[in-house]
Order: sequence, then C-alpha cells, then structure tokens
Amino acid sequence: MLHVHNVFKSYSSAQGPVEVLRGVELHLQHGSSLALMGESGSGKSTLLHLVAGLDKVDSGIISVADRPLNSMSESQLANWRRTEIGLVFQQFNLIESLRVEDNLAFQARLAGRHDPQWQARLIERLGLGNLLDRYPEQLSGGQQQRVAIGRALASRPALLLADEPTGNLDETTGDEVLQLLLDLLNDSTTSLLMVTHSTHVAERLAHKVRLHKGQVVVEGEG
Ligand code: ADP
Ligand code: MG
Repeated sequence: MLHVHNVFKSYSSAQGPVEVLRGVELHLQHGSSLALMGESGSGKSTLLHLVAGLDKVDSGIISVADRPLNSMSESQLANWRRTEIGLVFQQFNLIESLRVEDNLAFQARLAGRHDPQWQARLIERLGLGNLLDRYPEQLSGGQQQRVAIGRALASRPALLLADEPTGNLDETTGDEVLQLLLDLLNDSTTSLLMVTHSTHVAERLAHKVRLHKGQVVVEGEG
C-alpha cells in the first residue's frame, strides 16, 4: 500500500547541498508494520515527512494506496492527508485549548469520518474514559501519548506514521503505549510506519529496515 521508489532528497546548507536520501526503496503491504531505524541524522524524519506529503522529493516516487503524491495539488494533498494519514510524533502536539474528548475527535471530524462507536472503542482500549474532560496540560506524558494515538487512529487512516512515538516516555510506559498501539492496529486495516531507536521496539513490528548513507538496508524479518 506504501511504495517509495528511488527517492532522493537533499537540503542546502552553508557548505552546499547535503544529500540526505539517495535512492530510497521502501514497500509496505496493506495492514502490515515496518520499523524504520538508523542513527541520528540519517534521514528518518525526512523520509516520514515526505511520505506524509509535508515536504517534496527531489526525485523519485512515493505512492500511498495507489495514489502518487507528486500528482496531487496542495489542496488535494491536504485533503488526502486528513483522510488517509495518521501522524504521531514524539512531542504529542495535542491542542491545549481542547478537552481530551475533543482532541480525540478533532481529526476525524475534519476528515468527515467521526465514528462515535470506533471512538468509544479507542477510549476504552486506551484507558481514557476518566480523562475525557481534562485538558492536555492536566495529563502525564503517557496519557498524552495515548490521546495522540487515539486521535491519529480515530479517522481510520490507511497509514499511520509515527516518529519515535515513545521516545519521550520512560521504558515501562513506552512499552505499554506501544502494546496498545499494536493491539489497536490489529483491530483495524491501518498500516504502520514507525521510526524508532529501539531494537526492542523494532522487534515487535512485522518488518524492520535501517537508513544508512541515504539508502534503506533491510534488517530481516521481526
Ligand atoms: P533523523 O530523523 O534520522 O535524525 P533527519 O531526517 O531529521 O534525521 O535529518 C537528516 C539530515 O537532514 C540531518 O543532517 C539534518 O540536519 C538535515 N535536515 C533535516 N531537515 C532539514 C531542513 N529542513 N533543512 C536543512 N537540513 C535539514
Ligand atoms: Mg528524527
């Protein structure tokens, strides 16, 4: 469902262009999960941003659910992102002025996909039932991250992109949040591309790859 073919991306710097991605190949089946590893600065976040359509490739092709991103206008892209992509970042990016319940529904409502039954199931599985009236600042890190995951899954996206989603949590909380995320994915048709530093985390996903010198190296099946 996700195809990344021969993707190049460079940034300009004072010392001239820095080639971050040099012919990246990545393929992910519908409903599957892939861990993206690689040392700091290897281009993991860059690749995630490109897949989310938040930035443009220099050359190469990215398509999600048979739609090549480079063929879409900015407004088509924004619309597509709303319905097909869920994003979870290390910093939770919740809306401070909205209660938990409204944070959860926010994206799904924008996408015209608010489904009260699915949202109730997410709330139950993520253990957010007694937190619905709180504001993000009244939550712990683990609680905020559970809300961020719920929000991303509420619109039933085709693809969930997560950039070190448990990176700001202690190990036990991180493990719990990850397990919840994987359980929820089993209940849906969403595919997962997740950046992680942790081999331990990567082992729990179906596939893992590493970005090295601008290219993807397959790490073997998890
Ligand atoms: P990772 O997520 O693997 O740590 P990044 O994708 O964030 O790596 O960054 C890869 C490289 O690209 C780094 O050298 C970083 O400094 C550079 N880079 C990332 N984003 C930009 C940008 N917007 N402008 C210039 N350089 C960037
Ligand atoms: Mg990064």
